[in-house]
Amino acid sequence: MGRITLDKVEKSFGDVSVIPPLDLTINDGEFVVFVGPSGCGKSTLLRLIAGLEDVSGGVISIDGNDATRVPPAKRGLAMVFQSYALYPHMSVRKNIAFPMRMAGMDKAEQDRRIEGAAAALNLTDYLDRRPGQLSGGQRQRVAIGRAIVREPAAFLFDEPLSNLDAALRHGMRLEISELHERLKTTMIYVTHDQVEAMTMADKIVVLQAGVIEQVGSPLELYHSPQNLFVAGFIGSPKMNFFTGADAAEHDAHTIGIRPEHLTVSTTEGRWKGTVGVAEHLGSDTFIHVHPEGDPAATLTVRVGGEFVASHGDTVHISPLHADRIHRFDAEGLRI
Ligand code: ADP
Ligand code: MG
Repeated sequence: MGRITLDKVEKSFGDVSVIPPLDLTINDGEFVVFVGPSGCGKSTLLRLIAGLEDVSGGVISIDGNDATRVPPAKRGLAMVFQSYALYPHMSVRKNIAFPMRMAGMDKAEQDRRIEGAAAALNLTDYLDRRPGQLSGGQRQRVAIGRAIVREPAAFLFDEPLSNLDAALRHGMRLEISELHERLKTTMIYVTHDQVEAMTMADKIVVLQAGVIEQVGSPLELYHSPQNLFVAGFIGSPKMNFFTGADAAEHDAHTIGIRPEHLTVSTTEGRWKGTVGVAEHLGSDTFIHVHPEGDPAATLTVRVGGEFVASHGDTVHISPLHADRIHRFDAEGLRI
């Protein structure tokens, strides 16, 4: 079991409020991602759930029991950090066994759990190595293995992949997602990377300055961002925004159109502009266009990889479908 509820949970450091009172439910077995810019309170929220920080107010429940004052070791949660925090002089086996040894667990049970975790994480052939003899990805797997053997009610990950290079990060992302599919244990995963959030989460919690801006599935956030912040944060490349006359036409203060919902033509279109940079990725081309009359602005258009453009080209941009235009009011809220 691993249902976690936060009821008016808040946190201040001294007289600085970092998290105003906040409610959140994390269902048993869910993969929940806390995402937001650096400093928005993701780690603090995770540490409150783990018990590594005391709440300034509110109640944290785990499986229906008030855990607000329960010490971290007794909450039944396992945390995995960005820094693997492995013991360099111990073998992989001993590192994974460490929490069980501390708990005085029966040796045969320890071995059973180590074999299980090693098999789940492709570490079986590495159990006798030391961390220094492993790659970064393998070290992070050892850290995850050490969490798995505790058979926690939930795993708490704080930016676990940030130390890895891009290719390895992608591989580990898939591994953690697959691990979740197999274990079906609640996972809370903190990242500043919205692509990680979109690809891994059942449910994304978007945070800004300690406030939950929106909670929803990746596609709910993509299709119906509730405000300008979420609209601009979720999606890559970022949504384009228009104000003034362009937005007034749609009875809005601001309209937003994603790069993949714009088309480009060399002959005609809604907005004329000049190509600043064209990024040819092969699969896609991202064209960054400075519109005529507003050369400081940039519109990003995502088109097929066969579309070739270069700096200085004149292009015409149009919305693909009227129903892919997001409308926001003067407060930045979705209309
Ligand atoms: P994130 O993980 O989203 O980058 P954090 O949760 O680490 O953000 O930090 C949120 C805010 O709380 C930041 O402004 C940070 O400076 C502040 N903060 C975090 N820990 C402490 C602390 N122990 N004392 C004072 N301020 C802190
Ligand atoms: Mg953090």
